[in-house]
Amino acid sequence: MNMLRRVCVFCGSNTGFAETPARAAAQLGTRLAENGIGLVYGGASVGLMGTLADAALAAGGEVIGVLPRMFEVPALVHTGLTRLVIANSMHERKATMAELADAFIALPGGLGTFEELLEALTWNQLGLHHKPVGVLNVGGFFDPLIEQFNRAVTDGFLKSEHRELLVVEDDAARLLERLRQHRPTTMGKWLDR
Ligand code: AMP
Repeated sequence: MNMLRRVCVFCGSNTGFAETPARAAAQLGTRLAENGIGLVYGGASVGLMGTLADAALAAGGEVIGVLPRMFEVPALVHTGLTRLVIANSMHERKATMAELADAFIALPGGLGTFEELLEALTWNQLGLHHKPVGVLNVGGFFDPLIEQFNRAVTDGFLKSEHRELLVVEDDAARLLERLRQHRPTTMGKWLDR
């Protein structure tokens, strides 16, 4: 059983065209706060990131934003957070977000979200951390990415045990419960070859 004191959420700095991702971001923010789980996220006031943070704050939750110095501009920075950490680089920012949280969740987003999600999974695969990683699969948004992972398994580039590191759910409450229960594989990337 994983203790979820804080969860790091990666999500779009855009809101997207449909209403469902924003609704899901707000529901996740509220759910985290109601469960006494702190939110760690990118620190911006824009896009799904802003929607998520606003919902968690409105429900009385702890929200820690970790923003790289290059984004510390009034148009982007969220000024109402519990705590804002300014990082010197994108790399330092991601390391800080990972240290502060006990698990990772990705919501719909673009390249930044994919990159962060894949890094969290890669570190998991390498055993650099054992923190569970999940996606809130709003409207099947992540289905093509999961298909790509399956293709990598079929083609011999990814072990199915490592493919299973990603927890997929379309409901925030179920996702949090599965992240609590998740046991990351102990299979090494290299050593058992
Ligand atoms: P994207 O999915 O490309 O919109 O990028 C969103 C992800 O990258 C978030 O999880 C953030 O951690 C990071 N990010 C991208 N743009 C910004 C921004 N303007 N302010 C803060 N973080 C950002």
